[in-house]
Amino acid sequence: MNKNILLIHTGGTISMEEDHETGEVKPGETNPLMDHLKELPDINLITTELFHLPSPHITPENMLHLKTYIEEESNTRHIDGVVITHGTDTLEETAYFLDVTLSLTIPVVLTGAMRSSNELGSDGLYNLLSAIKVAVADHAKSMGVLVVMNDEVHTAKNVTKTHTSNIATFQSPQYGPIGIVNKAGVFFHHKPILTRALHVSKLNKNVFLIKAFAGMDSSLLKGIEQLNPDGLVIEALGQGNLPPMMLPGLKNLLDKNIPIVVVSRCFNGIAQDVYGYEGGGRQLKDMGLIFSNGLNGQKARIKLMIALETSTEREELEAIFST
Ligand code: ASP
Repeated sequence: MNKNILLIHTGGTISMEEDHETGEVKPGETNPLMDHLKELPDINLITTELFHLPSPHITPENMLHLKTYIEEESNTRHIDGVVITHGTDTLEETAYFLDVTLSLTIPVVLTGAMRSSNELGSDGLYNLLSAIKVAVADHAKSMGVLVVMNDEVHTAKNVTKTHTSNIATFQSPQYGPIGIVNKAGVFFHHKPILTRALHVSKLNKNVFLIKAFAGMDSSLLKGIEQLNPDGLVIEALGQGNLPPMMLPGLKNLLDKNIPIVVVSRCFNGIAQDVYGYEGGGRQLKDMGLIFSNGLNGQKARIKLMIALETSTEREELEAIFST
């Protein structure tokens, strides 16, 4: 029997064209992908263009709309797998949002392109075909949300964009891809540990993300305090340490019950409360900062936005960030 694949376009370079005179890459009136892949053997593609946006224009509201659309479609008709085309700049955030909030067992796969549809060596259609191959694969079920680019299958949790232009931009630092796609098929060599989906019906908490640097003081934290934040994520130094001059600013935010999540600005390893000096992770944890279990800053921000819809209690947030 043919498989029903829900193909959702959201925009990005994969849906753009290069102006050969100016070299500019931008979205046109129509999405070039809509003309391709009308027929594939043994597959019914149910294609929709939910957005036609460069991914720096994608908002948390768009992510929530995409999740709701997937749920509604899979509740009202038989869907065997979902493929989403997306700009690569924020693809990992949308992928992670869906991973944390969807509780589907069918494959949900995101893909994109580094070269637009009419450029030499364009990787869009190729990646899209690879993503469809994964979405129809029975053994890609119950793997969480996946990202397929450049012959590799990555988990939404670990994948990140690592290069500005190279087609091998998506990598999973420390863990690597969990599978590969080639002409012979789809092959997995790892199975991800899945966690229970978090409930979300709106996504509008005011959560900021900042990166720590040598000599940083409390001035940025003071500025954030004025903006009525619901939460803050800090990409801290090394194992999860901050310059001591940030401590007064952190204390002010904590006194106002603003949750602060610590991740590391290193892209391998997890933040831990190891160091006992002033501003060290041990002191930060004792003050009430929440240590995240290996997420990068942009994904920790998405998770904090979702978590804050359910609870602002430190213990509950800590439990959510420990998985
Ligand atoms: N700037 C583009 C976007 O994210 C990059 C891409 O799609 O590869 O929309």
